[in-house]
Amino acid sequence: MTQRLFAAAGFVALQLAASLTVSPPRAAAQQPQAPAVPAAPAPSSSGLQLDALDRTADACTDFYQLACGGWIAKNPVPSDRASFGRFEELQEQNHNRLRRILETAAAASDPGSKKIGDYYASCMAETAINARGAAPLDPLLKQIAALSSVSHLAPLVAELHTIGINVFFTFGSQADFKDSSVEMAIADQGGLGLPDRDYYFKDDAKSAELRTRYVDHVGRMAGLLGAAPEQASASAQQVMTIETALARGALDAVSRRDPNKVYHKLSAAELQALTPQFAWSRYFSGIGAPPVYALNVAEPAFFEAFDRMIASTPLDDLKAYLRWHVAHASAPMLSTALVDENFRFYGTALTGAKELRPRWRRCVGYTDNDLGESLGQAFVKEAFGPQAKAGTLQMVHELESALETDINSLTWMTPVTKREALAKLHAVTEKIGYPDRWRDYTGLQVTRGDALGNSQRSNRFEFRRQLNKIGKPVDKSEWGMTPPTVNAYYNPLENNINFPAGILQPPFYSAKADAAVNFGGSGAVIGHELTHGFDDQGRQFDARGNLKDWWTPADAKAFDDRAQCLVDEYAAFTAIDDVKLNGKLTLGENTADNGGLRISLMAYLARKASRPAPVLDGFTPEQRVFLGWGQVWCENVRPERARMLAQINPHSPGHDRVNGVVSNMPEFRKAFACTADASMVRKTPCRVW
Ligand SMILES: [Zn+2]
Repeated sequence: MTQRLFAAAGFVALQLAASLTVSPPRAAAQQPQAPAVPAAPAPSSSGLQLDALDRTADACTDFYQLACGGWIAKNPVPSDRASFGRFEELQEQNHNRLRRILETAAAASDPGSKKIGDYYASCMAETAINARGAAPLDPLLKQIAALSSVSHLAPLVAELHTIGINVFFTFGSQADFKDSSVEMAIADQGGLGLPDRDYYFKDDAKSAELRTRYVDHVGRMAGLLGAAPEQASASAQQVMTIETALARGALDAVSRRDPNKVYHKLSAAELQALTPQFAWSRYFSGIGAPPVYALNVAEPAFFEAFDRMIASTPLDDLKAYLRWHVAHASAPMLSTALVDENFRFYGTALTGAKELRPRWRRCVGYTDNDLGESLGQAFVKEAFGPQAKAGTLQMVHELESALETDINSLTWMTPVTKREALAKLHAVTEKIGYPDRWRDYTGLQVTRGDALGNSQRSNRFEFRRQLNKIGKPVDKSEWGMTPPTVNAYYNPLENNINFPAGILQPPFYSAKADAAVNFGGSGAVIGHELTHGFDDQGRQFDARGNLKDWWTPADAKAFDDRAQCLVDEYAAFTAIDDVKLNGKLTLGENTADNGGLRISLMAYLARKASRPAPVLDGFTPEQRVFLGWGQVWCENVRPERARMLAQINPHSPGHDRVNGVVSNMPEFRKAFACTADASMVRKTPCRVW
């Protein structure tokens, strides 16, 4: 339960890693479900899913409808999901496989799979969990009750952070932005129960209503821990006051995409001077950190706000806040009453899901979260063969070659900056499928029948693992996603692209599909991640992953002018009702989508030059590349979730990821013979890469 979708993520190591889609809500109680048996795709010669198409739609009027109309009509959002698309569809298939692996492990006594089997079985033991109610929290609640002064806060915060309860802020390890070969400690903003700092301040009616429901939820959780009704509602107000003070000091989501705004290297003494009320030396010894001489205090203003808040807040209020976060973080592993109340707010109010996912799906997710590189070994054995790895690697090389051609042909970039860009491109490394060396969980104790304890010990194990890195060389072979994950990422601090086995499956990749469809799917995914190295954020890091400006001022300006075109384009798209996309928040992802599909098409055409391709399923090869792209983004989304994603998600909705990109491409216009005044032909197309 280290990483939740909404609470402040435990570690910021991947704060800058640009992923392909919104991270799956790992271990979040609100994570919903798809039909258990996915419909079998209609047979096709090309690998396109023909029954996903809406052949009545005109490609030049609404390409997304052509690519996805059939799928969208046949796949309404299941009652226990907030959205359902091709990513979730594939994730469900992966989870079905993981369930079989875990049920076998739970029933057998094979030492190699004992931990995942015990973890899963403990999580599934609902009757035993219910019998204990909230009692497993008693030791922590006693510690909180015993807090006698704010000067004793630091060791208690240390204890909570160690087991994954991220009160006030987060702490971990990350490569030093300015010397990315070395890990350094990082303290980052956090401690909020709502998805983002802006949720505390937006004054529209929906936001105000959500805050009311949040306070109600916090009060009910206090009641479930035993508080009397009046005391529970008073403590909920205290929590809201504290979180609002933290949120006021926190940086907004757009600013956090700027690496210079989240890099402030301070000595431990400077941090102590910044926050005189908080005893950092006691915190560091409490978490068992190696000596911390310097660290990245990502947002100094946040820590000043934190310090002011603890200085001016009554101790009883701080205790109410700590109790809330203990209950919040632990709820998924506690009794039905807490699980249901957690879902009522984080599932229904925030995302619109109507019912809780089946327990086994939640437990599969938690096991993947906490023991992903043990569970992942069995998954890879079953689901990821050498053919997929070799096929993906070949495409990576073809995509890199296409991006090189693209950079060389740019008219807006001067030769000196091009040389640097090519050096960076040539230094990109790739990881495909799964780690070369699996994580060793020997030091993690998993006890059958202790669901919450297993989760807390897993968090402790992971936290210690992070702390142990501080001051040491960065291990670039480490993965930030587990093998069954349906996602991919670029890490600017390591200059590498990463594709878990979980996404290298249909509809993204199939050894049986025709090359055009694979280039539209996984080819464009590879292109997307490569382009992240050159988006508004990634371009600020050099070939070695250091935050270092390698652009001439004129080239930087030319880049910004082109990027602004994308900002304006996507800011005009509607997310839901009167809510527009945030063009600045989504700039990096939109740049990656546009560049990714363009270079994937280039790579495909280069391959096709030596191997001419026929018309298949009624579509030309070029048309199939675009349809391959379109079909990975088919989705249905509930209004509540659409509203939330518009605020916090750096990725655009599927509809805009498809139509936004193709309408910028003259290649699309040509492939579908669109007229100049067609909806899918922008008058002033945007192009960065
Ligand atoms: Zn991305």
